[in-house]
Amino acid sequence: MKFNIKTTDGNARAAELIINKKHLNTPAFMTIGTYGSVKSLDTVDLKRCNVDIILSNAFHLMLRPGTDIIQKHGGLHEYMNWDGLILTDSGGYQVFSLGQDVMVNKEGAVFRSPFNGDKVTMTPEISIDVQSKLNTDIMMIFDECIKYPSDITSTKRSMELSLTWAERSRTSNYDNKTLFGIVQGGMYPELREKSRQELISMNFDGYAIGGLSVGEPQELMREIIDENAPRLPLNKPRYVMGIGKPLDIAYAVRSGVDMFDCVIPTRNARNGQLFTSQGIKRIRNAKYQDDMSPIDKNCDCYTCQNYSISYIKHLDRCNEILAARLMTIHNVYFYQNLMTQLRTAIVNSSLDELIGQLENDFKEVKND
Ligand SMILES: [Zn+2]
Repeated sequence: MKFNIKTTDGNARAAELIINKKHLNTPAFMTIGTYGSVKSLDTVDLKRCNVDIILSNAFHLMLRPGTDIIQKHGGLHEYMNWDGLILTDSGGYQVFSLGQDVMVNKEGAVFRSPFNGDKVTMTPEISIDVQSKLNTDIMMIFDECIKYPSDITSTKRSMELSLTWAERSRTSNYDNKTLFGIVQGGMYPELREKSRQELISMNFDGYAIGGLSVGEPQELMREIIDENAPRLPLNKPRYVMGIGKPLDIAYAVRSGVDMFDCVIPTRNARNGQLFTSQGIKRIRNAKYQDDMSPIDKNCDCYTCQNYSISYIKHLDRCNEILAARLMTIHNVYFYQNLMTQLRTAIVNSSLDELIGQLENDFKEVKND
């Protein structure tokens, strides 16, 4: 892995990440493809939306269809016909958000498969082995994610357990693949600092800030990012997990974050919430019934080049699956374009100006 910083503006950086001969310009947004598919899009659609990297999930793919089947295909890229980059999440977050009893001990987590009730064990070693067999480009360590709010004693215990799992993830990376550590510590600055320092001493290829977007106030989330991102190693990629409103991304970029992922562009598209150069548009609003213009007249995406908002609204009302695909194409393209604008603004030293415009357009984005 190579990470070449091209320009900096304050803490913000425009850089190029090169892994397995594939290039990624950062700051970058990773579109979610949990099951090896971005919902309603195929890989031709993704290319058309300028997507370079997707995020998939080791935990879900281990349970369905199973690691062996994907390995037989030569890995996840071949299985899903995708030659771009793939980052896989370790499954930590998913295991702990199952909403059922998960037994956690020093070894790992034991739980019942949500699909067939089988007893499943997940450990740092198993997670790294699964991600390695999927032949992903970037692996994440296996960590424990705790709920919000949590008191300082249980947050500390969890953070320390995650540190021992981080070290075990690192030493079980026999194929020497690109592996990122994940800073935990909940909403407590002193725990975040301890986690950060210990992980830095383990020398990971990149660093994520995890445990955010779990129900904490927006201001607190922004504070934690602003405090932690600039203190992570300058010469390595920094990734905030699960953050995805346009303004939150822009603020985090200003704090020095390079990578993002979130379900917002894809999930909100399926619910008819569209991101445009004029702010949010809701397809279910009656005023679009007779609107012959595209979703966004300033957008060059496949959807806006070929279809009117009236037609897409009609499809959505009739529950036609094409509505989901066309709206997802638009939102995914919008997010890639947003990242291009952020990278350009860093190079041109105009990040504050762009943020001012985004504050105007996207102050009130809700999770649909
Ligand atoms: Zn569009």
